[in-house]
Amino acid sequence: MRHRHSLEDYHSGILLGDKVLLAQAITLAESELESDRDLIENLIEKLVTDKKNSIRIGITGSPGVGKSTFIETFGKHLTAQNKKVAVLAIDPSSYKTKGSILGDKTRMEELAKDPLAFIRPSATRNTLGGVTAGTRESILLCEAAGFDFIIIETVGVGQSEVAVRNLVDFFLLLMLAGSGDELQGIKKGIMEMADGIVITKADGENLKKATQAQADFTHALHLFQLPDSGWNPKVLTTSALAKKGIEETINMISEYVQFTRANGFFDKNRHQQDVACFHDYFNASLLHLLAQRISIEKSKKNLENEIMAGQITPWKASRQLSNLILDALKKI
Ligand code: GDP
Repeated sequence: MRHRHSLEDYHSGILLGDKVLLAQAITLAESELESDRDLIENLIEKLVTDKKNSIRIGITGSPGVGKSTFIETFGKHLTAQNKKVAVLAIDPSSYKTKGSILGDKTRMEELAKDPLAFIRPSATRNTLGGVTAGTRESILLCEAAGFDFIIIETVGVGQSEVAVRNLVDFFLLLMLAGSGDELQGIKKGIMEMADGIVITKADGENLKKATQAQADFTHALHLFQLPDSGWNPKVLTTSALAKKGIEETINMISEYVQFTRANGFFDKNRHQQDVACFHDYFNASLLHLLAQRISIEKSKKNLENEIMAGQITPWKASRQLSNLILDALKKI
């Protein structure tokens, strides 16, 4: 049995900004143990009473696009302005392989040493709550610990971006000019979700290509429908190594926050995200409750096999399973 602190200890420690307790509480948020769930839910209830002015930013991009270098420079820029920055890196590779791209200790070395920063790599898992199990709670925990900017980093492979989009205020897509990113269909979907695009590594020989890509993407974005926020997504060029375009990126995000606070979208979006969270958790806990009382795994597996063998349609199989649950419930 792993050591757990008391609710009071987590609560007071996090309010004081204790990073060790914060990290331990995030481990609780990612845990699937029933007792940990109870503890984290009680902790969050106690912590969310104060309204926080933090900004939640999703940052995504293909491996090698320059995410960690960008986040390090971006984060250092913010901490230099006395802002506290938390980075939650969602790593799709680490759960399967137990290795980790994002967990690599050499990533964001400078930022990791910064007393005003907190970096936490998290493995994704495909359980209740999907790819973001624990991430929503982790954001709230970081906010309670006084972080002004919460960055959620994902590798731009598709599924996790949609989930992350639903957790943040501003969604930033990092792209590399001439990398073929432009051609991928999957990127088009992610581009449509972006509030801003940053072309990375706009330095040296890349500068010309980056400026061209900026014009191309700006044009492409105009072809999309204006998002619900009413905000026109912007495209910037940056060089994290030369520290160029970083201030502009921060200004773009501040401008977005001002704009959406003024038109009411900022709060509305967060409330809509809370409703979506309610649906996710309700569905998950309902399934969990059912699974505790009725064993459907065997019947489900049999039906899956029948579907694979083309012996039954998915609709009929679903109906059969629902009826089985109904019958079992009547007997309880
Ligand atoms: P990630 O996989 O998206 O996190 O990418 P990294 O931040 O690890 O960067 C991948 C490579 O690109 C590294 O070799 C970096 O040194 C390089 N890189 C990152 N940012 C820049 C930049 O602004 N300019 C140049 N020229 N190279 C960069």
